[in-house]
Amino acid sequence: MSAKKHVIVIGAGFGGLNCVRALADRNDILVTLMDEQNHHLFLPLLYQVAIAGLEAPQVAEPARGILRHVPNARFSLGKVRKVDLDARIVTSEERRLRYDYLVVATGSDTADYGTPGVSEHAYGLKRLTEAMAIRDQILSACEEASRTRDPERRKALLTTIIVGGGSTGVELAGALAELRNHALPKDFPEIEADEFRVLMVESSPHPLASMDERLSLYTERTLVEDFGVEIVSDTRVTEVTPEGVHTDKRGFIPGYTVIWAAGVRGNVISGLPEPGRGGRLPTNAFLQLDGHPEVFVVGDVNGAEKNGDGEKFPQLAQLAIQQGKTAARNIEADVDGEPLTPFSYFDKGVLVTIGRARGVANVGGVKITGFPAWFAWLAIHLVQLVGFRNRVLVFISWLYSYITYDFAVRIMYRRRRFPGDSSAITSSPE
Ligand SMILES: Cc1cc2nc3c(=O)[nH]c(=O)nc-3n(C[C@H](O)[C@H](O)[C@H](O)COP(=O)(O)OP(=O)(O)OC[C@H]3O[C@@H](n4cnc5c(N)ncnc54)[C@H](O)[C@@H]3O)c2cc1C
Repeated sequence: MSAKKHVIVIGAGFGGLNCVRALADRNDILVTLMDEQNHHLFLPLLYQVAIAGLEAPQVAEPARGILRHVPNARFSLGKVRKVDLDARIVTSEERRLRYDYLVVATGSDTADYGTPGVSEHAYGLKRLTEAMAIRDQILSACEEASRTRDPERRKALLTTIIVGGGSTGVELAGALAELRNHALPKDFPEIEADEFRVLMVESSPHPLASMDERLSLYTERTLVEDFGVEIVSDTRVTEVTPEGVHTDKRGFIPGYTVIWAAGVRGNVISGLPEPGRGGRLPTNAFLQLDGHPEVFVVGDVNGAEKNGDGEKFPQLAQLAIQQGKTAARNIEADVDGEPLTPFSYFDKGVLVTIGRARGVANVGGVKITGFPAWFAWLAIHLVQLVGFRNRVLVFISWLYSYITYDFAVRIMYRRRRFPGDSSAITSSPE
């Protein structure tokens, strides 16, 4: 029997993990899964960690635990720094590994589009540490506001600015408004509920601008009228500072907490070709890199055209899952000397929640709003979540929140400081 083929998969996200699993029954293939984090992160639920609804480990699963059920795969922790396409070598922080096939599934990171101050003063929402930092920031800001008398400073402390009205911005805004409406007033009797402002700055006329207009308008109405979110539309943020954001049309908006949900950019490793728009690597229909048929690119970082008309595939978990499986199938076919299969996307639709019991969905052209969309979102995400223990714990947390209107995880890990932090000692509790 000839030597086993070595497949390296970079990224234990949706694309990478599904590729590894799809190769599990091949004993002529050895897989190394590499990731800079030791876990698979379920990004669609990350915002719930930020708003104190879920604990961090509930939305993540250890990569080594997942690979217990994949006998031909090994995990290697470390950030991959370089790929040598000619020598077929991947170099991480600690290792150099040679491959026969490479699958690049590195996902994407927050894109600031060159806006000054984003990396220094705004929070992204791509990692567990970022979600926990947002939670710390919001709880710290409430603590600070509870003893601040200066009305301007108090207002800035209690204003959370979400930049971007896409699905991440909408889900975050709805959930933050819930936290403000139900949990924070009980914890902070020193603060009136309407002092805590959730403000969304969006460059399009309405949130969820890429969805059907009816769904987009429903989302806007629900956020504003039912949840009290303030939407600043048709406006671009031009700079983020520690005190707030500068915009092109509405001047300076004060707010000490800024969350950047305005876009993503593919994570491209040194040695790979120059990416196209949005940091995405162009591939052929089989998901292979130009000139390197042994290299497959899947998920958010894949820049293949959908129909040859320049339009790219959406950056969604379902897309990454399907591309991961196609890459695995094509590697198997190549090893077996069989023809490869072009990638074909089965669009299962888009679901977005807007706070408690509200949501929008477009499934196969059928547009759904309100409770059914929200319920479908919960059910689908619960089923897709990796790990039985996580599914049970998340279900219990949701049930608890639904019944009690409370947010269970209002624990601060690290206290945050703000411009002009008060150090004065006051003798009166008022
Ligand atoms: C807050 C948020 C909410 C979302 N909600 C939804 C939703 O509701 N529905 C939906 O369909 N999609 C949603 N998405 C989009 C979806 O999560 C992505 O499309 C999907 O995760 C892409 O999968 P992927 O495998 O390409 O990348 P990822 O899942 O991001 O995985 C990439 C992996 O690569 C690793 N990595 C990156 N660079 C390196 C390196 N140099 N070395 C080693 N490892 C590396 C990362 O650590 C990560 O584990 C959401 C995204 C975000 C950020």
